[in-house]
Amino acid sequence: MIGGRQQVQEEEIIIVGAGPCGLAAAVEFQSRGIGSLIIEKENLVHSISQYPTYLQFFSSPEMLEIGGLPFTTAMDKPSRLEALNYYRTVALRSGVRVNAYEAVTSITARPNGGFVLETDNRYGEKQVYSAKAVVVATGYFDHPNRLGIPGEDMGKVSHFFREAHPYTGMEVAIIGGSNSAIDAALELNRAGAKVTVVYRKPDYSRSIKPWVRPIFEGLVAKGKISMLFGSQVIEIKPRAIVVQDEAGIRELHNDFVLALTGFHPDREFLMSVGVAIEAEGYPRFDEETMETNVPGIYLAGVVASRHQANEIFIESGRFHGQRIANHWLRTR
Ligand code: FAD
Ligand code: NAP
Repeated sequence: MIGGRQQVQEEEIIIVGAGPCGLAAAVEFQSRGIGSLIIEKENLVHSISQYPTYLQFFSSPEMLEIGGLPFTTAMDKPSRLEALNYYRTVALRSGVRVNAYEAVTSITARPNGGFVLETDNRYGEKQVYSAKAVVVATGYFDHPNRLGIPGEDMGKVSHFFREAHPYTGMEVAIIGGSNSAIDAALELNRAGAKVTVVYRKPDYSRSIKPWVRPIFEGLVAKGKISMLFGSQVIEIKPRAIVVQDEAGIRELHNDFVLALTGFHPDREFLMSVGVAIEAEGYPRFDEETMETNVPGIYLAGVVASRHQANEIFIESGRFHGQRIANHWLRTR
């Protein structure tokens, strides 16, 4: 504060979110002489640090590279730990500017062009920035798809899976049939949990990694994992789940529920900035430039996902910064 007035830090572009795609955009801007600051509410690549501890990426390392820095790994696919090491190395070597542990709380268009951003930093202080343009690279991991059923907010229910050890000897129901669900089921089975996967479709999802599916199918065939197709959990109780399928409604004994039902972008935050949301609930933007209907507000990474969370990955989202830089250099 100076003389009772909040000091305003001026930037060319502010990138909201230091995930791999926000980071890739910052490195791209730097290489093309565009000034940028990343503001990240947690730590660098926070989503990856919250992934299952022993996750192995489905992408090979070169498909996750950003800023031209080689990513080599011990095995053919990177582990979560290797990815964390890689992305923090990119951040440190490139010297891109990152304000960590600072959440962007609002973005407002100025009448004379550009934007004002308000933040809360790790010291509990409010900061104000001005930027000529803003790249929203906030991902979707903070917003799991909720089921909207009774009992979903009980302590035994989680929308995230970290490690199997706490579930040894427990009856665990997994809701969902894509990669998070299948990976968790395999790990839980190895740790001695009794696993039931409740999936709404009549057959396996085509999203499942092709090298994982036969292993999973083998365990289902041997009766080690129980797979309920065409089934929905309609209520969660302290000692049971209520499952509905074609045959009717029944209760299954249950200790824990992992609702691994995917994620969606933070629509409220985007709407508060003036970004239009399409009828299907996804943000409107130009695929070629990544600019939204608000001139000067761009999207990068999986926040731009439209129908399914399986449309944009690091593999593709890492190039969004290039499209933004091309457009920004033409129009700034
Ligand atoms: P994120 O990595 O989610 O980064 C967004 C950042 O924005 C976060 O750090 C968040 O804290 C921050 N943020 C949010 N709101 C604010 C705010 N208001 N202010 C400041 N900061 C904010 N993709 C692949 O290509 N290959 C894979 O193998 C792969 N494996 C995956 C495994 C799992 C378990 C999951 C969930 C996803 C995987 N993905 C993979 C998909 C996807 O590419 C990742 O989700 C990736 O993290 C997306 O990067 P991003 O930069 O768009 O978003
Ligand atoms: P996802 O791919 O979006 O799958 C969500 C699953 O939940 C789908 O099977 C979906 O059913 C089901 N579902 C959604 N809403 C539901 C509801 N209301 N009721 C019942 N079921 C519901 O989510 P994800 O598996 O968490 O994957 C997210 C992203 O992370 C993807 O990009 C994925 O590839 C990636 N990932 C990668 C790895 C890895 O690399 N090892 C591991 C995990 C995840 P439908 O099939 O009917 O849509």
